[in-house]
Amino acid sequence: MSRFLQERYRDLEPYVPGEQPQGLDKLVKLNTNENPYPLSEKAAAVAAEKLRGFQLYPDPDYAELRNAFAAWLGVSPAQVMPTNGSDEALDLAFKAYCGERTPAVFPDITYGFYPVFAAANGLPSQIVPLRDDFTMDLDALCDAQGTLFIANPNAPTGALLSVDEIESLVAADSDRIVVVDEAYIDFGGESCVGLIDRYENVLITQTFSKSRSMAGLRLGFAIGSEALIADLNTLRCSMNPYNVNEAAVAYGLGALADEDAFDAARQKICATREETIGRLRALGFQVIDSYANFIFARTSQMAGEELYRRLKERGIIVRHFGVERIEDFNRITIGTPEQMDALVAALEDILG
Ligand SMILES: *Cc1c(COP(=O)(O)O)cnc(C)c1O
Repeated sequence: MSRFLQERYRDLEPYVPGEQPQGLDKLVKLNTNENPYPLSEKAAAVAAEKLRGFQLYPDPDYAELRNAFAAWLGVSPAQVMPTNGSDEALDLAFKAYCGERTPAVFPDITYGFYPVFAAANGLPSQIVPLRDDFTMDLDALCDAQGTLFIANPNAPTGALLSVDEIESLVAADSDRIVVVDEAYIDFGGESCVGLIDRYENVLITQTFSKSRSMAGLRLGFAIGSEALIADLNTLRCSMNPYNVNEAAVAYGLGALADEDAFDAARQKICATREETIGRLRALGFQVIDSYANFIFARTSQMAGEELYRRLKERGIIVRHFGVERIEDFNRITIGTPEQMDALVAALEDILG
C-alpha cells in the first residue's frame, strides 16, 4: 500500500476469485462455475459477422444487443441494460440503491462479492443469516429495512426460491428495492423477469458467464422497470459509457442466435449434476439440492479443507471457503461427464 491511498480504502479487503491456474490441460478445473462447453460454431460464426472491428467505439446505447436480449426475455429494450459482467450491474445497484437509511441486506452465506461492493462504495450492510438448513430466512428478510440482495439460486448452496417466494419479498414493501441475482437461473430455476412489469421495486441481474459460456468476455445485464434502468444508465454513462466492449457485443449476439446449443448445454449440465449428486450421496456425502451448475457437499469423513487439498494434489480443483459455518463443505462446479468421473474416482481413492 502506498502512503497516498486514501484513508477510506485502507481496510478494504478485495473479493478473492477462485484460482485460474496455469497448465489447464492437466487439471480438472471445477472451482469457478464456468461452462465446460464452449460457444457453438454457429454462435461464433454469427459473432464474426457482427464484429465491426475494434477501431470504433461500441454503440453506447447497445441497441442491437438490448433488442436481442429483450426479445429473448420477452421484455422491452428499455427494461434491459448490458453491463461488463453482471458484477458491474450489481455494483451499480449498490451505488444507486444503498445508503445510510437503506443499507444493503443479504444473507451470511451468499455471493462473497456483496460485502465487498458495500465496503468499496462506503455503504452500510446488514446480514440476515440463513437458517440452520441453509435455506433463506424469508421472514427475517421480509422484516429487514434496506435494499435486499438475493442470489437465486443462491451461491454457494445452489438452493432456489420460487417466484412466489421472491414476489412475497417484493410485494411486502413497495418502498424497498429487491435485487435478484440470477447468475444461475438458467440451470433449472424460474426467472423473476415476469415481475418487472408489475413491480417497480424489483431489479434482476443475469450473466452470460455461466449458462452462455462467455465468462472470459464479461457480459451481463440489469433487467427492471424503465425507471430503474434509467437510473442505472445515468450512473453507467457517468462512469463508463462504453462499459461493454465490441467483442462481448458480437459474441453476445452470436450466443443469442443459437438457442439450440444453449439449451443442449444447460440440459447436459443439469443431467450431469443430478447424476453427480447421486454418486456423491452414495459415497456418504451430504449434498444440498442444487438448481445451479455447481453442488455444495460435505462428508463427515474428512474436513473440507483437507479434502480440497487432497483433490488438488490429484489435479482436481474445487472451491473451499474459509468461512466457519461452511468450512466442511466444498463447492464443486459441474463439468463434463468425463470430468465428473475423474472427480468421483479421486474421491473414492481419497476416502478409501
Ligand atoms: C458468477 C456470479 C456473478 C457474476 O458473474 P459475472 O461474470 O460478473 O457476470 C454474480 N453473482 C453470482 C452469485 C455469481 O456466482
